[in-house]
Amino acid sequence: MTERLKTDILVVGAGPAGSLAARYAAEKGVKVTMIEARSNIGVPVRCGELVPSIEEITDMFPNLTGAEELFDLPSDLAVRNVEGIRLIDPKDRVWEFPFTGYTTDRDRFDQYLADQAVKSGADLIKSCRFFEREGNIAKTSEGEIEFRTIIGADGPGSRVAQSLGLPANQNPYPAVSAQAEGDYDPYIQMFFGGIAPGAYAWIMPKAGTANVGVGFSPKFSDGSLRGYFDKFVKAHDIKVLTPIHGKYVPSEGPVSKTYADVGMVVGDAAGVVMSVNGGGIPQAMITGRMAGEVAADNVLNNRSLAEYEQAWRNVLYKPLKIAAGNKKLADTFAFRSERSTALCMKLLGKRRMGKLIRCKRLFP
Ligand SMILES: Cc1cc2nc3c(=O)[nH]c(=O)nc-3n(C[C@H](O)[C@H](O)[C@H](O)COP(=O)(O)OP(=O)(O)OC[C@H]3O[C@@H](n4cnc5c(N)ncnc54)[C@H](O)[C@@H]3O)c2cc1C
Repeated sequence: MTERLKTDILVVGAGPAGSLAARYAAEKGVKVTMIEARSNIGVPVRCGELVPSIEEITDMFPNLTGAEELFDLPSDLAVRNVEGIRLIDPKDRVWEFPFTGYTTDRDRFDQYLADQAVKSGADLIKSCRFFEREGNIAKTSEGEIEFRTIIGADGPGSRVAQSLGLPANQNPYPAVSAQAEGDYDPYIQMFFGGIAPGAYAWIMPKAGTANVGVGFSPKFSDGSLRGYFDKFVKAHDIKVLTPIHGKYVPSEGPVSKTYADVGMVVGDAAGVVMSVNGGGIPQAMITGRMAGEVAADNVLNNRSLAEYEQAWRNVLYKPLKIAAGNKKLADTFAFRSERSTALCMKLLGKRRMGKLIRCKRLFP
């Protein structure tokens, strides 16, 4: 870019949150520009690649409307259907219960969503990094962009949030993933403890392969992710096929404010991740759609950006706060040692752990 580019809505980040925001804003006929720091959308993959079914999503977020349309994705993005979850404690005891969804190839998934935004009329500029904002001007690696409304979809350490004076995610934890060899049955396996206190690991079945990953809370263990990952794959005799890649996962639920005078934050930038399991793709898409619609109406009819926050709070706030509360309980009582993790899982039992995973209250 040589001259200053002008747009109605500037979306920063082409993950699920940004692409949905760009798509729904562009569908209303305003000029939308989406910038993405990476040269190749979704690459490298830093995700467990699990997408819950519409039934699971609406069970977790019963106030959600329009779920069928939002999650109506091409069948080839579902690499492998999932039928259940196995939770495994440090003593290798297993709790198994039904859970439906599918694993995807996250790079193709993100590329499809970005293509949909472009098909709806949004302009996409790759290899373009947002640095800072001055009034209605965004300074980027490719020059300045003038906007009316900015949407920060730039992940957990959002620079857009910072530039808008919005709160940052507190205590995000690091997690990594990689592709591995192996034919697994259609069950997600989640291991708590076993590697180190406060660490967890997963194996997500794909087609003849699996997604394998590890996350840990630096509050309880001071090792390295690389070290914990290597320990996990060695203990389970897993052959890893790709390098590991990771990033931070918000762990304390939604940030306290997600809109300012000229912009909003969505997805991980808004902290809308399920603290108990690290899942954030559905909420990124939900908040992206809401912000895109409100931003377009703001440009066309002066609709207040505060309505975006009301909209997502109505759908996501309660379940995500319950999940954040449950995570706090787990941090206090379970994750301190391998022994306490095993004991707490035994005390909770299958029914309550099913509730935990689905962001529901553990006790009446
Ligand atoms: C290891 C791991 C495993 C996970 N597994 C799952 C899972 O199995 N299921 C699930 O639902 N969730 C999972 N999550 C969480 C999920 O990945 C996120 O919640 C989801 O990606 C959030 O989408 P988003 O669009 O908000 O952010 P992101 O997907 O992080 O997208 C942000 C985009 O913004 C770009 N960007 C960042 N900064 C800038 C900048 N300054 N300028 C321009 N562009 C920028 C980035 O390159 C990126 O493309 C996992 C997370 C991790 C780390």
